[in-house]
Amino acid sequence: MEAAITLLAQGNGDAKVLAGGQSLVPMMNLRLAQPGILVDVNRIPGHDYVRRQGNELIIGFLARHEDVKQSKVVREACPLITAAYEFVAHGTIRNRGTLCGNLCHADPSSEMPAVMLALGAMMEVQGPAGTRQVPAAQFFIGLYETALRSDEMLVQLRIPVAPAGQGWGFHEVSTRKGDFAYVCVGALLTVQGCRIATAAVCAAGIGGRAVRLDSVERSLVGQPAAEQTFQRAGEEARRNVSPSGDLMVSGEYRSELIEVLTRRALADAAGRAN
Ligand SMILES: Cc1cc2nc3c(=O)[nH]c(=O)nc-3n(C[C@H](O)[C@H](O)[C@H](O)COP(=O)(O)OP(=O)(O)OC[C@H]3O[C@@H](n4cnc5c(N)ncnc54)[C@H](O)[C@@H]3O)c2cc1C
Repeated sequence: MEAAITLLAQGNGDAKVLAGGQSLVPMMNLRLAQPGILVDVNRIPGHDYVRRQGNELIIGFLARHEDVKQSKVVREACPLITAAYEFVAHGTIRNRGTLCGNLCHADPSSEMPAVMLALGAMMEVQGPAGTRQVPAAQFFIGLYETALRSDEMLVQLRIPVAPAGQGWGFHEVSTRKGDFAYVCVGALLTVQGCRIATAAVCAAGIGGRAVRLDSVERSLVGQPAAEQTFQRAGEEARRNVSPSGDLMVSGEYRSELIEVLTRRALADAAGRAN
């Protein structure tokens, strides 16, 4: 690990980590990335772990998508991750691509940055000066941009285990299953009596980076866990975003999706709460 960090530092901004290569290599094919030094971290032993430690789920930087998707530990500790993985890429890409590489790539339509925001994940980052902890809320800065410095690596994720009784829901629309999202929405709810006690709602595909829908979350707490509440939350989500269109879909369609998918993700989360 230290050797990898040293090489990154020697690169003076011109070195890149090569993990699964599922985003970096296509970028290099298109000459959108032309690193002078590639630091292949695949043979650093002992960093492909996915384990529970107390109240945290810990995932090393070489844990492949497919291993995280299939993990019973993940399904029990953070079922939102497993639910979202139903929409992430195709088998061959998941076999090689890593969750940490995906987060470092920070594609604005990628599911996992949104999920990490909703879960309040902590990114453990290592550089020449040592290790620092970066909350997911501060990690994703913009389009393909994170808080990582050019001589730093994301070494592991520390994700709080879901509290007992928390429900989850994740919905997405894309061209085909496994393609990047036009829009995706994830939701976490706890319900006390018949009212919503806590809410976390995240989305991707609606701007330069994944986001938490703060105003939607605020509008939910204290309300009945009922269809009408979720309908209003969907409308609130739509009011608070202004997605642009691209070659595939219009901004108006994305606005429609954010409303519908928020409603559906919340209904699923409420159905699974308690
Ligand atoms: C056809 C196709 C469909 C896809 N569909 C989806 C999808 O639906 N949803 C989705 O989310 N993704 C999708 N992906 C992307 C996939 O998830 C990639 O695996 C992932 O984005 C990158 O992980 P990787 O390990 O391959 O990283 P790499 O490609 O090796 O690296 C990606 C970037 O992260 C940096 N990096 C990697 N690891 C670290 C680290 N530990 N520390 C610091 N920097 C690091 C690299 O330097 C590079 O800049 C798709 C990819 C393809 C080719």
